[in-house]
Amino acid sequence: MKDTFKHKGLRKKMVEELSRKGIKSSRVLNAIIKIPRHLFIDKEFESHAYIDKAFPIGSNQTISQPYTVAFQTCLLNIKKDDKVLEIGTGSGYQTAILVFLGAKVFTIERQHHLYRKVLKKLTKLGYNPELIKYGDGYLGIKEKSPFDKILVTAGAIEIPKSLLLQLKVGGEMIIPVGKVIQKMTHITRKSENKFDKKTFGDFNFVPMLKDKN
Ligand code: SAH
Repeated sequence: MKDTFKHKGLRKKMVEELSRKGIKSSRVLNAIIKIPRHLFIDKEFESHAYIDKAFPIGSNQTISQPYTVAFQTCLLNIKKDDKVLEIGTGSGYQTAILVFLGAKVFTIERQHHLYRKVLKKLTKLGYNPELIKYGDGYLGIKEKSPFDKILVTAGAIEIPKSLLLQLKVGGEMIIPVGKVIQKMTHITRKSENKFDKKTFGDFNFVPMLKDKN
């Protein structure tokens, strides 16, 4: 699989579109310019890679819309060496963005088929998280906690307490919350027991499911 001039041109156009839609962070836009999103989608659907839309990746799941990936990444203000927990590895595209930004990424996927596929893909493309785990994101990864940032890429009905407790004091989490439509929710852990919450508009994610299959 190749990254051609044509792909690069399409990426540049997509980044211009994201910028028009309000994505301001030059670091995030640069990551999107550099990472070949078409390599995270099955070859026969490659032509969809640079359209700003979510897209099916098998097992009833989607690769998040580029705007959503950019929006979540910007809200978390990812810095080099941040220790980040991602829930819902999916295609691995969001994971690659976090790795590109210099974060130490721990990511969890609950669908075994997707987990196996993404493990191979990220290794092959050289975006190497600290850990790709097959498991239930509701549990987080207690033994690797606390995290500077937690990024949830599936819609949760409520904010999982177990995840709040795996945040560092001063740490931040971004999670879409709601059943049909989700409010993008940003949480800051102010102290052991105090969490600040802000919401940022409506989104539409696949559900964060309980337990493994
Ligand atoms: N970040 C991904 C988004 C994929 S969609 C991407 O850019 O491609 C959300 C993903 O969350 C799906 O792969 C789904 O299987 C996964 N998921 C849903 N519930 C989960 C849970 N409880 N734990 C871990 N992953 C979960």
